[in-house]
Amino acid sequence: MPKRALIRLLLGFRQFREKFFLGDDSTYSRLSTSGQVPKTLLIGCSDSRVDPAILSGAGPGELFVVRNVANLVPPYEAGGGYHGVSAAIEFAVVNLRVENVIVLGHRQCGGIRALMFPEQTQAGGFVQRWMRIAEPARIRALEFTGSGDPNELWRYCELESLRTSI
Ligand SMILES: [Zn+2]
Repeated sequence: MPKRALIRLLLGFRQFREKFFLGDDSTYSRLSTSGQVPKTLLIGCSDSRVDPAILSGAGPGELFVVRNVANLVPPYEAGGGYHGVSAAIEFAVVNLRVENVIVLGHRQCGGIRALMFPEQTQAGGFVQRWMRIAEPARIRALEFTGSGDPNELWRYCELESLRTSI
């Protein structure tokens, strides 16, 4: 038997279908005919509190979204490996021809906290390795915040990490 949290999601999906899917002139009927034509690529954090569509009020077809821990954009790398963020950016820019690219950061980011305070994260885990992308932001935060206050460091690094991604 599904747990309460899953039942709530299933009911939400039912409402979504009724609102956007049913009928010949439904939103998804039109989107399936025209294809997606989003004007904006948004790179956001996986954090459950910062869903881009909820925050912006965007409807189906409006945002092309990439979400990962701490809304990071890895550096360009040719060659082997699986580059999910790069693939999404390439698709949005080359195929969909989006007009805007937004990197959406947020306060109290757990990924940035893991970067600034690695002793609070699983040693050698995927999060620590992933967050190395934002190492320049960590260095700048340590250089430019004078007080050593953990919250100030965390906040400063969240902002610097956005600059690094952009
Ligand atoms: Zn985050």
